[in-house]
Amino acid sequence: MTRYVFMFDEHPNPSKEILGGKGYGLAVMSKIGLPVPYGFTITTETCKYGKDLPEDVVKQIDEHLIKLEKSSGKKFGDPENPLLVSVRSGAAVSMPGMMDTVLNLGLNDDTRAGLAKKTNNPRFAADSYRRFMQMFGNVVMEIEHDKFEKELNTIKNKHGKKLDTDLTTEELDEVIVAYRALIQKERGEFPTDPKKQLRMAIDAVFSSWMNPRAIAYRKLNDIRGLIGTAVNVQMMVFGNTGETSGTGVGFTRNPSTGENVAYGEYLLNAQGEDVVAGIRTPHPISVMEKELPDTYKQLMDVFHKLEEHFKDMQDLEFTVEEGKLFMLQCRSGKRTAAAAVRIAVEMVKEGLITKEDAIMRIEPNSVTQLLFPQLDAEDKKKFEVLAKGLPASPGAAIGKLAFTAEEVKERVSAGEKDVLLCREETCPDDIEGMNLAKGIVTARGGMTSHAAVVARGMGKCCVCGCGDLHIDAATKTISVGSKKFGPSDFFTLDGSTGQVYAGKVQVKDAEVSGNFETILNWANEFKRLGVRTNAETERDAKKAREFGAEGIGLARTEHMFFQGTRIRAVREMILSENVQGREVALAKLLPLQKGDFKDLFTVNEGLPVNIRLLDPPLHEFLPQTPAEMEEMSKEMGVSVEKIKVLCTNMHETNPMLGFRGCRLGVVYPEISRMQVRAIMEAACEVVESRADFNFKGVEIMIPVLAHMEEMKMLRELAVGVANKVLEEHKLTIERVPYTVGVMMELPRACIRADDIAQYADFFSFGTNDLTQTTLGYSRDDAGKFIPLYLEKGIYEKDPFQVLDQNGVGELIKMSVTKGRTTKPNLKCGICGEHGGEPSSVEFCHRVGLNYVSCSPFRVPVARIAAAQAAI
Ligand code: PEP
Ligand code: MG
Repeated sequence: MTRYVFMFDEHPNPSKEILGGKGYGLAVMSKIGLPVPYGFTITTETCKYGKDLPEDVVKQIDEHLIKLEKSSGKKFGDPENPLLVSVRSGAAVSMPGMMDTVLNLGLNDDTRAGLAKKTNNPRFAADSYRRFMQMFGNVVMEIEHDKFEKELNTIKNKHGKKLDTDLTTEELDEVIVAYRALIQKERGEFPTDPKKQLRMAIDAVFSSWMNPRAIAYRKLNDIRGLIGTAVNVQMMVFGNTGETSGTGVGFTRNPSTGENVAYGEYLLNAQGEDVVAGIRTPHPISVMEKELPDTYKQLMDVFHKLEEHFKDMQDLEFTVEEGKLFMLQCRSGKRTAAAAVRIAVEMVKEGLITKEDAIMRIEPNSVTQLLFPQLDAEDKKKFEVLAKGLPASPGAAIGKLAFTAEEVKERVSAGEKDVLLCREETCPDDIEGMNLAKGIVTARGGMTSHAAVVARGMGKCCVCGCGDLHIDAATKTISVGSKKFGPSDFFTLDGSTGQVYAGKVQVKDAEVSGNFETILNWANEFKRLGVRTNAETERDAKKAREFGAEGIGLARTEHMFFQGTRIRAVREMILSENVQGREVALAKLLPLQKGDFKDLFTVNEGLPVNIRLLDPPLHEFLPQTPAEMEEMSKEMGVSVEKIKVLCTNMHETNPMLGFRGCRLGVVYPEISRMQVRAIMEAACEVVESRADFNFKGVEIMIPVLAHMEEMKMLRELAVGVANKVLEEHKLTIERVPYTVGVMMELPRACIRADDIAQYADFFSFGTNDLTQTTLGYSRDDAGKFIPLYLEKGIYEKDPFQVLDQNGVGELIKMSVTKGRTTKPNLKCGICGEHGGEPSSVEFCHRVGLNYVSCSPFRVPVARIAAAQAAI
């Protein structure tokens, strides 16, 4: 026979899954000898029956009620010595939105009189009765809370009383009469039979599991796989019997900072929700040491025992009855990322947990909170959310609205500090403006859109795909519904939630503490995967190294093309009609690229640097505006008309599948030759700059490759140029190691990985493009339909954010196996955005990649995720 009901100390293997979080805490606390009022838990398995509990379950509840009566020496419904209980819900995960708590259940006119007589405290009995009617009426009979409060306030006002503790027994009687009338009017007779009350409360808890609020909460918080809530029926203890009684909530450590001090609040002569209801101001726990010194000692002893047992910070509820402490709940306490890190590190030092435990306690994504300035949570509450987009790059940004990258540049150089770049979507041309802006918001684009990728790389707050914003660059207005905003208005962006506010929300500085560094260093002790970064500027590379990046996994060379006047040389190269013309332009670019590469090598001394050859379709760099065309015509000495024609000729219908990646190098080998030369000259020059310069090696990477022949051709080109440069500098490959490898971004490359590996020294999976090409979803447009796909359950997570392990992942697995059949030690990494996403990092560990590479601000996330994968 299935057991559906267990006394708190009966279950042989208590678990949250079966007993719910609350039931589990009560079971454990009972087992380790803490003062827990006795009771029983009806399991989560029972929840599936809702209101229609089978006979069998009802029988088990009755039997356990008898056990409770026996152990307490009281009887349910007995006017002489009544047993009163609380009925509380509790799923495996705590879940606002469900029915929560009914206290003092079992009271009616007779048992109330009995309670008054037995305790010799008629006021307490009256207070308990009115509380019970209010809670039962509200949560079980579903009458609005406000209606009860209104009755209570009318009577308080009538007698000139401010607090409910000021009400006399007689006045409380008036409240009871008023409540009874209210219930009668709204729902009919108030049930007086305690057994009926109990059954109604249990039914209400089980059915609240499927109420719309609870369902919405589960969906919003991605809570899946739970079978239901449990119900806990527990003997009442009373915090409302007078000034030596009370109720409180506590944390064994400070949940906000992690400091190892008892934290919490309590109220004397109070029950249940009073502490959080805000009617009376509760006292901090520290005051209890003076007010109730003995109880305080008991409480501190409990705090200690709980941490000893759970080896984690606990959040608990307690009641004090006539100076005696009772525990009503405990669970692992919610905490900020800063607190999580501090608690984990300190618990290792206290000998409570191991380093491995400490690492497993940290939610990898949460640590980005420690790297960016944050919005002040309290101040945020004062603002209404204007619109919501994708949380593309975390942090907070506040500024006035600018509508083009040019405008940002102009306003910043004119002395304005806080400007946000607001764009329909960004393009490579916007880089400088993005860099100067405090934050970026776009109306279109997904998590791997240009704005998102670049912003993350820069560590800049970005909200993208914010469809509710109608951004009109021509009139410099943003409209949201009937509201309109212009260049002098402020917006606040929350890059961690995707929320956009009108106005200025206050920000708080990021907290990076020594504990954070400690935990990251521990992560390095366990992880097997290397963690590199995607960066091309000196600033980003430095930042990433500070965060512990072990080299560069991807430098997108074209990102450097927009700095200053370089774009002119790039345009000249593209618009040249023959090799000679292109070579003239390329000669101008070479020293500039070389300078960039030298910076990268210098910042990454002792670490490997991967540099990718030019990738995007060339027309992305073309002049767009008449002024730019004019400029090019002067620069190159050809007519504006001619420039226009050249630009039109370069138009592509589907550029992401067009003339890009290695195809550029195949068709215009002089471009690749210039880039390889710039890389190798930079390498030789840094090596020559200091005899002891520790040059770890450069990896030259060929992007968007499909065919072995492409690889063969471009490898020959790269090796030819590289060896020539080494010869010119009289340096050996041992001193200036270089390799040539492939960026795996197309299914064909994965399918033919064994062939390609013959000519590749390494594979790096570009999973942004590999996802795009495997799924056939444009990465720049998928934002339009992915949310719907998620809603319909076709994908669980956006495949551009979380690696599609069954699809794209299979291709990666196959490529690694095939590649290593050809070359057993083939180095394999990932440099798509997934390289900084914890579940994808775990996958990379599992399939045997050598490293992951991600944007600088995700490096710490990846380090923790990589360590967790290895533990
Ligand atoms: C990729 O495709 O995964 C990649 C890293 O390259 P990009 O995002 O520059 O196309
Ligand atoms: Mg790519």
